[in-house]
Amino acid sequence: MSPNGARPVRAHASVDNLRTYLLAAARRDPDRPAVIQAAADGGLETVTYGELERRVDRLVDALDALGLDVGDRVILESDTNADAVATLLACATLGLPFTPTSPEVPDERLLTIIDSAEPALHIQSDHGQRTGIPETVGTARFGPGGLTVERAPAPRVRRRRVVTPIDTAYITFTSGTTGRPKGVVMSHRGVIAFLRGAEAARLVTAEDRVANTSPLQFDFALFDIGLALGHGATLVPVPRARLNWPRRFLSYLRDAGVTQVDGVPSVWRPVLRHESDLLAEMGQEGVLSRITFSGEDFPLDELRRLQELLPKARFTNGYGATETMAASITEVPNPLPPGTERLSIGYAVAGAEMMLLGSDGSPVDEPGTIGEIYLRSPSLFSGYWRDPEATRAVVLPDPLHPGSGQVVFKTGDLAHMGPEGELYFRGRVDSQVQIRGNRVELGEVERRIGQFAGVTGAVAMVLPREDGDPLLHAFVTCAPAGPAPDTREVLAFCRAALPAYMVPHGLSVVNEFPVTVNGKVDRTALAAHVAS
Ligand code: ADP
Repeated sequence: MSPNGARPVRAHASVDNLRTYLLAAARRDPDRPAVIQAAADGGLETVTYGELERRVDRLVDALDALGLDVGDRVILESDTNADAVATLLACATLGLPFTPTSPEVPDERLLTIIDSAEPALHIQSDHGQRTGIPETVGTARFGPGGLTVERAPAPRVRRRRVVTPIDTAYITFTSGTTGRPKGVVMSHRGVIAFLRGAEAARLVTAEDRVANTSPLQFDFALFDIGLALGHGATLVPVPRARLNWPRRFLSYLRDAGVTQVDGVPSVWRPVLRHESDLLAEMGQEGVLSRITFSGEDFPLDELRRLQELLPKARFTNGYGATETMAASITEVPNPLPPGTERLSIGYAVAGAEMMLLGSDGSPVDEPGTIGEIYLRSPSLFSGYWRDPEATRAVVLPDPLHPGSGQVVFKTGDLAHMGPEGELYFRGRVDSQVQIRGNRVELGEVERRIGQFAGVTGAVAMVLPREDGDPLLHAFVTCAPAGPAPDTREVLAFCRAALPAYMVPHGLSVVNEFPVTVNGKVDRTALAAHVAS
């Protein structure tokens, strides 16, 4: 063997590696469809598991020739498609942590990620438009023809040969709805532990076609890829442009024979507004058998409406944070029972456990009492990239077995327990704000406003003022056909049920809430709305 890595680095087939786990179906049944995607001619094309594996191997050879070491980072910028999946699996094979990102991520944000991750290589698709990648970073393109290197990465020393399950599979940079953006480092062992646990929820069968609507940099996309390929099912990435056009979105789902749609609640908003008849037709056909949502609370009005249109579909609420990929997968009754006030986030996936702890660190087992969710899980992230202090703040000795050396994840999420031990999300610890010395849970204010007739969504926040106390302000959306709710009436409605300090000082009616690149409500953009 030559001293500097002539032998290609390979993941050992018998231990946990994202590649071996996700391509297991290629061994069993190479002709199964792995990905159905939009083709250049406007139609659809199918990539089988066998073909996907061939593309992975071709990319492995090309990447290996660049002499990168296990642990060298690769930025993978793409829409979700078969070649992006092949590229991330090639990175996994070689132990190159990939950082997924999408073409719509602004330059400035990408440069911040590059600055932090110090990647060896930036790879985008043949059609990628990104320019201005710093000189220190190699650049390449991928496509059906394989890898084209534009600028070779700086030469490096290869110290490692073996890819182990504790090596990093990927680093995702969160969008920051839960604080400042952080690089979440996830090992092969962690992500596979999650996917194995999720198998017990039986969300997907090998016959399913799972539509992915989240952009690649959101780990919800990795969840979709993991769940579909982990079950030998078919991944159907929905082109981003189609998501903004509800009719084109639905016809794409129909043409591709999609059986399940995964996405944040906001992907359904345009459909509910403009194409409810077409969705109802598809509901009658019974083609969409499951809707899985995750990332934030689904406004109950909208969820009920969606269920009316899809009476035969099953609904699933995926709850959790990037730090453990997700935590729970819970069946939502369809239709929701009339008095339902909030959705259950149930129990942790198989192999993990959610605990509720009070602010003094003691367990909360009284139903109805709010505590913070701590997660005991084999899918715990390895830490925040280059931020040991932030890691130490949330990865803590197991409070119930402090001597065991085991650690748990402090989620920053609040919940209460229902009669069967199931949990109900109650907002973030950091959404508890102080108003005139009183502790206010913004979610409670939002819930009350959301009960006002005609209001379809509410977001409450505290706006700082240069002089004087910060002010509580609320934003609402309302049904497109109905009249805008009267501000004074909404505030009176709040006053009837909430203490004075929880009644917003002002209220703005907006057409729709701005969303982040991941599709969650963008609170910062909303705040700017009032400031401007
Ligand atoms: P960011 O939003 O900063 O990119 P994450 O995607 O990891 O980071 O956000 C995770 C958070 O999103 C959770 O801690 C929780 O507050 C919220 N969340 C995720 N799923 C749900 C859900 N099903 N219901 C309510 N809140 C959720």
